[in-house]
Amino acid sequence: MTPATLYLSNDTSSRAVGADRLAKQLRQQSNARLIRTSSRGAFFLEPMIERDVTEGREGRMVWCNVTASDLPNIVAGRGGVPLRSIPFLSAQSRFTFSNFGITQPLALDEYRTRGGFEGLERALDMARDSIIEELKIAGLRGRGGAAYPVWSKWQAARQTESDEKFVVVNADEGDAGTYCDRMVMEGDPFRLIEGMLICARAIGATKGYVYCRQEYPAAAGAMRAAVRKVEEAGLLELNGRPFAIDVVLGAGSYVCGEETALLESLEGRRGVVRAKPPYPAVSGLYRKPTIVSNVLTFATVPNILTRGGAWHASLGTDRSRGTIALQIGGRVAQPGLVEIPFGLSLRKVLDQFGGGMAAGSRFKAVQVGGPLGSLFPESKLDIPICYDSFSDAGAILGHGGIVVYDEDTDMVELARHFMAFTADESCGKCTPCRIGSLRGRELLDLVHGGRATKAELTLLTDLADTMRTASLCALGGRAPYPVLTAIEHFPGEFQTRLRAQEAGTG
Ligand code: SF4
Repeated sequence: MTPATLYLSNDTSSRAVGADRLAKQLRQQSNARLIRTSSRGAFFLEPMIERDVTEGREGRMVWCNVTASDLPNIVAGRGGVPLRSIPFLSAQSRFTFSNFGITQPLALDEYRTRGGFEGLERALDMARDSIIEELKIAGLRGRGGAAYPVWSKWQAARQTESDEKFVVVNADEGDAGTYCDRMVMEGDPFRLIEGMLICARAIGATKGYVYCRQEYPAAAGAMRAAVRKVEEAGLLELNGRPFAIDVVLGAGSYVCGEETALLESLEGRRGVVRAKPPYPAVSGLYRKPTIVSNVLTFATVPNILTRGGAWHASLGTDRSRGTIALQIGGRVAQPGLVEIPFGLSLRKVLDQFGGGMAAGSRFKAVQVGGPLGSLFPESKLDIPICYDSFSDAGAILGHGGIVVYDEDTDMVELARHFMAFTADESCGKCTPCRIGSLRGRELLDLVHGGRATKAELTLLTDLADTMRTASLCALGGRAPYPVLTAIEHFPGEFQTRLRAQEAGTG
């Protein structure tokens, strides 16, 4: 009898909930053949085992939240649901993540069979300026936080004369609740390499680096293995010259996600932010033209070259083109990764994909964009998810992390936590952030302990304003937003602490 072919994710998040134990048991069975794939990002369903059915790999059956006792039924083909019947997956528009859950991360032949390296082949046939023009038509903006037009950076690097140019992947994915960069590196590393090579071709770069946060050992390992495979296949060269890619581990500093601090770190120094201009596209690594973009940005590029810039521009909203990767976490029923066109409201995303609140909890606040993101109450949930709407609301999309908080959350404690985070992670280069974050933490300690006066709360908002307007980079400049929005939208929690002090009970 032909053994059943089963698929199980080898992603860090799947392994964290027992995928390796299931794999070990399945490998002991002669009537099952196990293939470890990337993850579909439906973490609330993990560990998830899939099985081929007659209509092919995309039409698999799936068993969710699998335990050891489910394995006999899975091997025998009993039970399960069609993969396409899971709305969390079927309602998405997956382009950048189209291989997730389907391919084996380090199977180069599978990547090529599914259209991998077609974008690079097209880029190699195009003039450099035409590649950049395609990105301009696409309207691709950097997916890391600043949302700067990618073509403009590439054009600046392309037009700057230099004997050396670099492509640097910012894989220092430090925002709370974000993990899509890790998933690309672990699950579809060839796509990232392809995006780097297209960029290198467009700007005339001579070397590439992947700066990966040290908390991602599996991702760094997958990237190194993928680079070796691409090299062995003879694909790691441009214009007849070898194009080396090094994978470098950071030392765990949040500010190294800022592009100039990252470059300082890559050069072997402490990760301190450089004043801009000059921008890295003109003077970056070793003061040579350098494109620094995050994993997701590079991973979006191959499809644009394959399908064309107009295709990408047809998705999303007027000024936020294409799709966005949202990582939904916190107190929701269905945490996981989704890829959808820009434009859906936060409320719809949380309802449709997040599945509403986790059992037994009620919504209180949501934070989009990591520890520097604004804290929004329920009344703000109708904001469309796109760069401009968020900017108009005084918020950022950042790297697409969405964290939901429930009614048990202490908003003063939360504000204090984020200011303390900034104080810990500040690089120290500028006074508003270095000193301001310490004073901010002290003031929030007073509020939290019921020992602050109204005057000190006013001082806190003044301080936040100074940090916002006078800091050198986004870490200090955005740090006040969680605090200010917590005070604005949840004033009662702050006032109650003050009243306790005034009543002599704090
Ligand atoms: S804002 Fe903070 S992290 Fe940024 S340069 Fe100033 S001290 Fe460094």
